Amino acid sequence: GLFSYAPAPESRAVVDIAPSYGLFVDGEFREAADGGVMTTLSPATEEKLSEVAHAGEADVDAAVRAARTAFTGWSALPGAERAKYLFRIARIIQERSRELAVLETLDNGKPIKESRDADLPLVAAHFFYYAGWADKLEHAGFGPAPRPVGVAAQVIPWNFPLLMLAWKVAPALACGNTVVLKPAETTPLSALFFADICRQAGLPRGVVNILTGDGATGAALVGHGGVDKVAFTGSTAVGKEIARTVAGTGKRLTLELGGKGANIVFDDAPLDQAVEGIVNGVFFNQGQVCCAGSRLLVQESVHDELLTALQRRLRTLRVGDPLDKNTDVGAINSAEQLARITELADSGEAEGAQRWTAPCDLPSQGYWFAPTLFLGVSQAHRVAREEIFGPVLSVLTFRTPEEAVAKANNTPYGLSAGVWTEKGSRILAVSQRLRAGVVWANTFNKFDPTSPFGGYRESGFGREGGRHGLEAYLEH
Ligand code: NAD
Repeated sequence: GLFSYAPAPESRAVVDIAPSYGLFVDGEFREAADGGVMTTLSPATEEKLSEVAHAGEADVDAAVRAARTAFTGWSALPGAERAKYLFRIARIIQERSRELAVLETLDNGKPIKESRDADLPLVAAHFFYYAGWADKLEHAGFGPAPRPVGVAAQVIPWNFPLLMLAWKVAPALACGNTVVLKPAETTPLSALFFADICRQAGLPRGVVNILTGDGATGAALVGHGGVDKVAFTGSTAVGKEIARTVAGTGKRLTLELGGKGANIVFDDAPLDQAVEGIVNGVFFNQGQVCCAGSRLLVQESVHDELLTALQRRLRTLRVGDPLDKNTDVGAINSAEQLARITELADSGEAEGAQRWTAPCDLPSQGYWFAPTLFLGVSQAHRVAREEIFGPVLSVLTFRTPEEAVAKANNTPYGLSAGVWTEKGSRILAVSQRLRAGVVWANTFNKFDPTSPFGGYRESGFGREGGRHGLEAYLEH
């Protein structure tokens, strides 16, 4: 053909991954007290990347104690001094961003294009943004002398490992808290590199502690008596369990959980633009995004035209090697996640929806799922109700704005939605009735550290980002 596809691989050599890593406690890397270890691998190749320590209860206790001790000095620092550390961390992240992007892509499976152009710039932006708040809290409307909460236990998922860390660590430190963070078991590496960055920035020991481990480690951490505040991002099931653990303990809690976002396309929408937004909404990060636009609600009169354009676009997506700079869709993060996606997608077919798969050659090693559409979906189908957390879009139709709002809200979740129309009045009318923490108009998946993010109902409570994100980390 006219164009022959030339792979453009990013160099793996820009990141030096050690064969094993310890826990980061009190400013030092150390083995787990019981010697426990676990393996992390590249989901694109199933190649082992490294071995990391598996923290048990004794390590949780040591990390929380270190954070408690460090709290005295850190919380007493003038905000302007804390800001200097955060600015230093932000600059080091920028300097090391190519290395960190490759690391994130190796451990998570996401396309390098995304880790390089979305994750890493946003990670640095969050540290810059919250650094700017550290010396301005008195003027933020929180009263004359807001005080930090204390030791924050932070548990995060695998879909945006370093970005979820930034969302949690940056505001906590800016307000004067100290943290013990537990990354997800399948993506521990970038948090450990972040620990190294804290050392490089000269951050006082114990202010940031990183415990790699699994769900049991997370449960021990949120249940520890020395913790003042719990911040969790992950599944709704685990979020509910944590809410039960924390109930009655006096610990502060914020939860960022799952979602089943709707992209609502009206017949007057710019359809080419809508197609790009829909693709970005559910195929960005392989659809493993809590605020993914995993349901498409399209007005009946433009259904056929939109679907034709969408399928044409999906045929051009490049699925494969995440380190290739041309790749649009990378690997699914783990065998477990792939099994979950497969099971739910199969239910769509079994329940009578029509399955369409984008033609692509999937690599033989690793965890892969081709971009998939379900057409003729009804609200009762599992693919319309349950979070798939994969590259799968369920297509439903509507006739009136009322019907669109009713269908969009017909979910136990309430994290995100998109509205596509040229009419400004309709954007306002519809978005005010959508029960979702964020509503995008004629765009999707736009993020900025100045904007609050969070859910309604089973998507959780509390807000991260912006001025609102400080509240969780301050006593009033
Ligand atoms: P998960 O709930 O299984 O795991 C999340 C984290 O919690 C991991 O670090 C895990 O080790 C830990 N964990 C597991 N069991 C625990 C327990 N009993 N106590 C304490 N910690 C425990 O979720 P996941 O599969 O890693 O992530 C996918 C989910 O996260 C999706 O449902 C997605 O919607 C959600 N998510 C939400 C947001 C948001 O901002 N709302 C962002 C990203 C992901």
